[in-house]
Amino acid sequence: MPDKYAVIGNPVAHSKSPAIHAEFARLTGQDISYVPLHAELDAFERVVQSFRDSGGRGMNVTLPFKHRAYALARERTPRAEDARAVNTLLLDSDNIGGDNTDGAGLVRDIMENLGCALRGCRILLLGAGGASHGVCGPLLDEAPASLVIANRTLEKAVALREQFSSAKGAAELSALGYDALAGRQFDVVINATSAGLTGAMPPLPDALFAPGALAYDMVYGRATPFLDFAGSHGARVADGLGMLVEQAAESFFVWRGVRPETQPVIALLRQSA
Ligand code: NAP
Repeated sequence: MPDKYAVIGNPVAHSKSPAIHAEFARLTGQDISYVPLHAELDAFERVVQSFRDSGGRGMNVTLPFKHRAYALARERTPRAEDARAVNTLLLDSDNIGGDNTDGAGLVRDIMENLGCALRGCRILLLGAGGASHGVCGPLLDEAPASLVIANRTLEKAVALREQFSSAKGAAELSALGYDALAGRQFDVVINATSAGLTGAMPPLPDALFAPGALAYDMVYGRATPFLDFAGSHGARVADGLGMLVEQAAESFFVWRGVRPETQPVIALLRQSA
């Protein structure tokens, strides 16, 4: 019998995770099953418990349940604690463990797949929601020169800065509203807002991108105004498909102790998009 895994969300039918993990299993010769599980909003904890009772070994957690997965986990990794959200559950008969692989996925995509070093860079992180919480710690671990968090609701950016101000390295860490970005330039600009999903983008100044800058949008599978804007201002652009595959690979590694190759899976998803 294959070991059982699942992705849980609401909605979940659109998720690419089953296809990604099926390909990882094929590439690594691991005997697993991986299915999508829809949970009603009041039933997340029950669906997890019943999957665990049926022998389930692990789950990915997607919107809107990452915070509830954090609360449900009895043991959490430091990166899940930093993110205050869990996207990877490890299940066995007497424990539920929680991890967060989003930040590792983003950093690996930027550094390994896109060949962009982060050490000494000036990074701008747009947004202060769940995704930004997940990636702040792993970005700071790479020792950038500075990390600026900009958000529409300034208090959320300030709260995120406060959370990391004492914990991490020597990088200059600041929180700004979008109007305070005028006159500043960055080497890496990461859009962790959901604005692209509605065809919008944060208000950004024209001179934001340093020469050779990378503009990264976590949204994938569509053209976004942010990437159009960045491309037309000379930046190199990337969407979040690589992050999606890399965070999945990190979950697979956490569960199976084997790191799958990601390039063929990214290429496959791009082909079928
Ligand atoms: P979230 O918690 O709902 O946060 C949304 C963020 O977007 C907030 O900072 C919000 O600002 C900002 N925002 C929304 N609309 C905006 C607009 N029109 N202008 C400016 N800011 C706007 O969402 P999340 O979980 O952080 O996810 C953010 C995005 O990342 C989503 O699109 C998600 O699909 C993507 N994501 C991708 C991956 C991947 O693997 N590629 C992984 C995780 C997330 P306020 O605080 O002011 O409301």
